[in-house]
Amino acid sequence: MLRIYDTRARQVEEIAAGRALRMYTCGPTVYRHAHVGNLRTYVLSDLIRRVLERRRVRVLACQNITDVGHLTDSGADKVLEQAQAEQRSVRELARFYEDAFKDDTAALNIRPPEHMPRATETIDVMIELIAKLIEQGHAYVVPDGSVFFDVQTFPTYGDISGNRLDALKPAHRIDTVDPRKRFHADWALWKPFAGELTWDSPWGRGFPGWHVECSAMSLRFLGSRFEVHVGGIDLRFPHHEDERAQSDSAVGHEVVRHWVHGEHLLFDGRKMAKSTGNVVLLSDVVADGLDPLAVRMAFLEHRYRQQLNLTWDTLRAADRTVRRWRARVAEWSESPSAPMASEYAQRVESAFDDDLDTPSALRILRELERDPSVAPGAKFETFLHIDQVLGLDLSTEIGKARVLPPGAGELLEARARARTAGDWGESDRLRDLLAEMGVRVADTPEGQTWS
Ligand SMILES: [Zn+2]
Repeated sequence: MLRIYDTRARQVEEIAAGRALRMYTCGPTVYRHAHVGNLRTYVLSDLIRRVLERRRVRVLACQNITDVGHLTDSGADKVLEQAQAEQRSVRELARFYEDAFKDDTAALNIRPPEHMPRATETIDVMIELIAKLIEQGHAYVVPDGSVFFDVQTFPTYGDISGNRLDALKPAHRIDTVDPRKRFHADWALWKPFAGELTWDSPWGRGFPGWHVECSAMSLRFLGSRFEVHVGGIDLRFPHHEDERAQSDSAVGHEVVRHWVHGEHLLFDGRKMAKSTGNVVLLSDVVADGLDPLAVRMAFLEHRYRQQLNLTWDTLRAADRTVRRWRARVAEWSESPSAPMASEYAQRVESAFDDDLDTPSALRILRELERDPSVAPGAKFETFLHIDQVLGLDLSTEIGKARVLPPGAGELLEARARARTAGDWGESDRLRDLLAEMGVRVADTPEGQTWS
C-alpha cells in the first residue's frame, strides 16, 4: 500500500485506506492563469489518486475554487482587484480563469475531482461554520462586524508547520497589530464590506476569509474525518494551520489523517513569480511546440517533495522521452502479444508505493526499454499498464506506426542482442541487411530505433 510523507507526523506513513479514500486539495484562486509551478500540486493529488485506484481503492476527491476572499498582503481581495484591472465583472473574470484552469489540468491528464465547489456558491456553508465556532467560543465578533478566530482556544496550533504560537512574532506581515484582535495571530473568518461580491450574514454584509473556505468545504463534501489533505508547501503556514484549527475546533477531533505537501518549483533557478518576470504557463510550453504532457513528465522525473528546478532544456528532454516512448509502444504493439514483464512492473509499483518515488519508477522503465531479454510484446503490456499511473498517453501512436516488412522485426531483435553482447560485426551485418529491406536503424543511448 502507498506510504507517503505526512508533514504533521514528520515521517513517511502508510496511507490507511480501506476500499475508499477521501482527499481534499486546496484549489486555485481564479483571478489569473495558473502557472506550471501551481499545477505541480494538482499532479501530486492525481498521482495519489492513480496509485490508490490501481489498488482498487475508490478515491473521492474535493478541490475548491476560490472565487472570493483570497487577500493580498495589502489586504485587498485578489479577485476583486484583478477584475477592476481587467475592467470585467468579478463573475466573468472568475469563470474565465476557472475554465482556463480546467483546460490546463485536463491537458495534464489530471482526473477531475468529484467535487469542485466554488466559494461564491457555498457562502451559506461558511456562515454556518463561523456561527458554530462563535457559539463554541472559538471565534468572536467585534463591533465593526468582523469575526476573528480565537487561536488561543486551540492549543495544538502549529502542529503541522512547527510554528508554535508562543514563538510567533506579532505583526508577521503588517507593521501594526490589529487592535480589534484579542491575540496578534487571530485571523478573520468574516470581513465587513459593502459592494460587489458581498453577502448578508448575522454579522452584517461582507465576505468570508480565505482560510474558512477550505474547512467549510472539506467538512461539507468529505465529512468530519478524511484521510488525505494535499497542498503546496507554501500553504503549510498559515493556511493549513488555520484550516486545521477551524475544522478540529468545530467537530471536536482531528479531521485530517495525513497532511501531504508538494515542494516548490523553480524556473531557471528562481521562484516563479510575476515580480521576477519568469512565469511560465502551460500555453507557453505548447506554443514552444512541446506536448503539454512533457510538463507532467518533467514533474515525474522529480519526487514531489524535492524542489524542482525546471528549465526549457529539461522540458525539451522530457518532451523527447514522451515522444520516444509513444513511438516505442507503437513499435512494440506490432509484435506478438506476450504477458507483462511482471518483475519490472512490480519494481515500478513498489517505487510508486515508496512515497511516490517517480524518478526511480522512470529509471526502471528506461532499464526495461533497453532490456533485450524482454520480448517487445511484454514491454508493450508493461508500459501501458504503468501508464495508468504515469498518465502520459503512451498509446497514442499505436496504429500510426509504419509496419515493418516481414522478417525485419526478428532482425532488429537479433541486432539488439548482438549489441548487448558487444558483437559489433554482427550488429553491422544486420544493419546492412535491414537497410536492404528499407529499414534504417539508428542507435541512441536508449537502444536502437528504426524508421
Ligand atoms: Zn485550502
